[in-house]
Amino acid sequence: MEKKLEKIKQQVIECTKCELSQTRNNSVAGKGNFKADVIFVGEAPGKNEDLKGEPFIGIAGKKLSIALESAGITREEVYITNIVKCRPPKNRVPTPIEREMCQNYLKKEIEIIEPKIICILGNTAFSSLLDGKEITKFRGKVVSKNNQLYFLTVHPAATIYNQKLIDVLKKDMKKLFKVIKELKDMKKIKIDIEYTS
Ligand code: URA
Ligand code: SF4
Repeated sequence: MEKKLEKIKQQVIECTKCELSQTRNNSVAGKGNFKADVIFVGEAPGKNEDLKGEPFIGIAGKKLSIALESAGITREEVYITNIVKCRPPKNRVPTPIEREMCQNYLKKEIEIIEPKIICILGNTAFSSLLDGKEITKFRGKVVSKNNQLYFLTVHPAATIYNQKLIDVLKKDMKKLFKVIKELKDMKKIKIDIEYTS
């Protein structure tokens, strides 16, 4: 499994499928525990991530770590990745084409890790993975689609200047890991939104 993830990482490093490859310093593959129960999915690398080639290592990443710690979880226990693996110039939102070009990498990360649940961080991941919008209305909810569970929450970057939102993110992390515990204990969990296709 680790070998398969390593292969994806190499493909991401060498990828030139979209034009973000021309402006990036480093592509940023996912990182974390290949046996994780949960994959966190953000939007795209920011400045620090682009410089170091690692996801969520800037201020937004710090916020994510703080929220995880408040739920008693370390980053080593989870897997963290993004919808697109290269930084868009000036941190603009990735375009539909860029998302489409990049989507196979995330698909493979999910196939290899087989997480119990995927945690969607913010609107870009919400729209890309579930065609959703207005994450603040739906955050805290558990979604089921095509036999995959998702959990919705705000993007850690949104919490940087908003103390209320960091509390929301912390609260959501507590719920997420409570749901994960229930899944591990084979308990029946409450699904808030069921997608039918
Ligand atoms: N914001 C994201 O969406 N992803 C990162 O990796 C860093 C900041
Ligand atoms: Fe390739 Fe994705 Fe980077 Fe585009 S964003 S170059 S598709 S890895």
